[in-house]
Amino acid sequence: MPNDAFLNDLANGGSAETLLATILKYHPDLRAPIDVVAIAHRAGITEVRDLETDAFASALITNMAKGEAAILCAPGLSAQRRRFAIAHQLGHFLLGGQPVDRQCRNRDLAETRRDTPTRKAEMHANRFAAGVLMPKPLFVASVAGLGKPTVTHLPDIAATYHVTLEAAVTRYADLTQTMCAFLFVKDGVLRYARPSRFFPALSIQAGDPIPASVKSATPNDRIAWLPAEARDWIQISRHTRQPRLTMQILSKANGFQLVMLFVNAAAERRADEEAEKEATEKPSFGQRR
Ligand SMILES: [Zn+2]
Repeated sequence: MPNDAFLNDLANGGSAETLLATILKYHPDLRAPIDVVAIAHRAGITEVRDLETDAFASALITNMAKGEAAILCAPGLSAQRRRFAIAHQLGHFLLGGQPVDRQCRNRDLAETRRDTPTRKAEMHANRFAAGVLMPKPLFVASVAGLGKPTVTHLPDIAATYHVTLEAAVTRYADLTQTMCAFLFVKDGVLRYARPSRFFPALSIQAGDPIPASVKSATPNDRIAWLPAEARDWIQISRHTRQPRLTMQILSKANGFQLVMLFVNAAAERRADEEAEKEATEKPSFGQRR
């Protein structure tokens, strides 16, 4: 069988990143949108099908005596969510030793916490799913090709990879080298936030009302960088200079808004250096020259 080496390498297991590297090694010509069903079949999933149910969004059914596994999806899922659900179950199948049967709900497919073993397993399956659907080398190259970051890139990226806006934003925040944060807002209330790695700690939490400047933005407004009041969004320490924040707002007619907060890291570094220089150049009291 031509797939033997691939299956052997996958069977060695490891982290989501190791498995993703193996998938990329054997699929060097991957192009967006990724054919996740084809990859699942090559990786040992014998069947992917819909099953009418309210019990789960997607499930993994294993028959390891036969060395087989199938992925089931609830038919109500959008095409984008279905692709993510398949990649998520493939993650459960490949991650962490002997696969076991799984039934995952919508909230499992969005899990980012790792504070219990169950949540950790869901979070790892989601990391794997994001990596399969938006492979790092492809994703980084397509984002670089778009030029300076702007909030309107995100729907384009979601369309290119045929994933939900949420999945595209989460992947973008994970991989970008810039200091930015995305906030998903519905009817003036923050639903959840996706900050990039070096973004300052947010002060606004899920369930909080968003500042009036965002609430008043409409779908017809031109998308531009606007100044954002730092204390509305991030935890301000008395001991550090507060960074200059800018934001862009993408508003939809149904009350949904995607807010992108941005800190120009290079400008902040220069401002810090200036402040330090000024402090050391100040003459001290009681010293005469
Ligand atoms: Zn799951």
